Amino acid sequence: MRRWLASRALRRSTDTWPILPGSDKEPEGWSGWPEGKQFAVVLTHDVEGQTGLSRVKRLAELEKNLGFRSSFNLIPEGEYTASSELRGWLTQEGFEVGVHDLHHDGSLFRSYDDFRRQAPSINRYLKEWGATGFRAGFMFHNLDWIQQLDVDYDASTFDTDPFEPQPEGVGTIYPFWVDGKNGRPGYVELPYTLVQDSTLFLLLQEQTCSVWQRKLDWIAERGGMVLLNLHPDYMSPANEAPSPREFSNLHYVEFLSYINQRYSGKFWNVTPWELARWYRSQLPQGNAPSSPLLTKTSAG
Ligand SMILES: [Zn+2]
Repeated sequence: MRRWLASRALRRSTDTWPILPGSDKEPEGWSGWPEGKQFAVVLTHDVEGQTGLSRVKRLAELEKNLGFRSSFNLIPEGEYTASSELRGWLTQEGFEVGVHDLHHDGSLFRSYDDFRRQAPSINRYLKEWGATGFRAGFMFHNLDWIQQLDVDYDASTFDTDPFEPQPEGVGTIYPFWVDGKNGRPGYVELPYTLVQDSTLFLLLQEQTCSVWQRKLDWIAERGGMVLLNLHPDYMSPANEAPSPREFSNLHYVEFLSYINQRYSGKFWNVTPWELARWYRSQLPQGNAPSSPLLTKTSAG
């Protein structure tokens, strides 16, 4: 059923996915990435269950061996315990830990009241974990509601993705600033810009990572942000045959190797928090609404 819906969404979206025309418009006042890098590469992971959790360290090691750092978004009250040992290990190794939803059961964005009721618990975990970033389950997003979270950045949106239950994208391959409201501070929004692994390999049944490569090339040429969201739960280690609900991590290795070979020295691999902190530092003091880099209006 999901695959049938996906093929229908695919047919309807050939002009707007995986590349959305116009999403490469630079933010006003944009002066490029640090150290003259051509584009940014941000790797993020949402850990959905026990299987994913058991693969976190090995995946981080794999990325490290290829010269990359990433973030792992963990569910505070889901089917596993995000131990302080694991969180400490990740940050010690130069990776980042983010908060992924609260229960991951679809209830967070059911209504404004639901969100408001759960927000204090999310803030408690952010503080306890020393985390500064958030991503909602199922990519539900409402940038006004997210104001209630004590975050430096949110990563629950995407440039274009017709396959999500809430398919409205933010239409940009750049980070953007979301103004504070009602006495709450603003935050940086980091949309993902490459199709999610689960959509690519499980839903659309792609056999290679060529869709990622093509989009990467397109973003690199325009100097945007490559932001990938992957799920260790669905990515089987190279020495294990993938089940029907998994894809081989060799696709991911191939993709990272492609970046290294084709763009050596030209990209800024950065964790989302570091990127958000840098982006914020580019904003004029006081974050006046008329400032450059602030003009992207928030969606949803
Ligand atoms: Zn999730």
